[in-house]
Amino acid sequence: MPDPKFLKPWHGVPREMIEWHPTVHEDACIGCGTCVTGCSRLVYRFDYDRMKAMVFDPLNCMVGCTTCANTCPTNAIAFPPLRDVLDLELRVDVHHAIEDDLISRRDQLRAEDVTPHPDRAVELRVAHINDATPTTRLITLVPSSSGDHLGQFIPGQYLEVQVPGSPWLARAYSIGNAPRPDDSIELQIRRVSHGRFSNWAFTDARVGDLVVGRGPAGHFTMRSPLERPLIFVAGGTGFAPVKALIEQQFAEGHERRMLLVWGVSDAMDFYELDIIENWLDDHPLFDCTLAATSWPVQVHVPARASIFTGLVSDAIASCGLDLSDYDAYVAGPAVAIVNVAASLGERGVAHQRILADSFGLQAPDVN
Ligand code: SF4
Ligand code: SF4
Repeated sequence: MPDPKFLKPWHGVPREMIEWHPTVHEDACIGCGTCVTGCSRLVYRFDYDRMKAMVFDPLNCMVGCTTCANTCPTNAIAFPPLRDVLDLELRVDVHHAIEDDLISRRDQLRAEDVTPHPDRAVELRVAHINDATPTTRLITLVPSSSGDHLGQFIPGQYLEVQVPGSPWLARAYSIGNAPRPDDSIELQIRRVSHGRFSNWAFTDARVGDLVVGRGPAGHFTMRSPLERPLIFVAGGTGFAPVKALIEQQFAEGHERRMLLVWGVSDAMDFYELDIIENWLDDHPLFDCTLAATSWPVQVHVPARASIFTGLVSDAIASCGLDLSDYDAYVAGPAVAIVNVAASLGERGVAHQRILADSFGLQAPDVN
């Protein structure tokens, strides 16, 4: 019988809805008993006749734990891929349940005597709000009048921001521009149902609000020599750091071959196409492909841009270009990045020349 104390919902998800438990490959099990005696949740029993470990109460197993597999001397224990746990943690309800637990047990769980956050908190003021599309809001932040400054950031870096007055943990957003004379920065925020930061951004944020941020941080920054051509690949609001990197190239006067491939689900989700149009008009060595799985007629596409119907990874795979001398900068959801990297490899881009900026757990889906 599963132990009721281990059958509690896992961050709100009924335990029996989660397929997570060990499987013992009997042929490989030498009956050492390490897993049986080592699991404090009594998942196992021991077959004393056959000298084999038996999975007896699979639901007692802690979701995400693989301790017994790690300690089995013959690799006789298997688990589902950890990706399954990541997929659960990327669910908004699970993410919020974990966040609420962290907040409610802050006194108990707070790490003491650790290195302070390397970036001091700065106060920024909402200077402008622009609904770029029904699902993407651009918020411009400027240093507050109290004299706080973000400091010089490097294009491609991100900022951690908190919902004003909330206990919630900070969310990371890429800065969607190169440094400007007025020190303003642009956050590109996608609307997410139940996303705590995006809910604030779409429903409560007002010009003049003060936002606490930390940063800049991150290593998704330009590192290619000037003679090398560049391909930038963005998925959704992964356009933000890519835009900052491209702006940097033009601001510094670097005219070299550059290709932007930007993908969204529906072409209505594209924004700031006027900026891309200006880049195309002003820089003959710059090209752009826009990829979407549906193309409503009302989308105004820059004249010199190419369009592709389908996924951004397929746009790259089928572009017909030899990209073997290109460096690639890729930003977007983790799953998309894996597919994009494979497509870039097909077109000749060396693996070590692909720099990726994955949303990871800070995915827009949970922001
Ligand atoms: S640790 Fe491995 S070899 Fe030892 S009993 Fe368990 S499954 Fe068998
Ligand atoms: S993974 Fe952890 S909880 Fe699950 S059976 Fe192994 S040791 Fe026990």
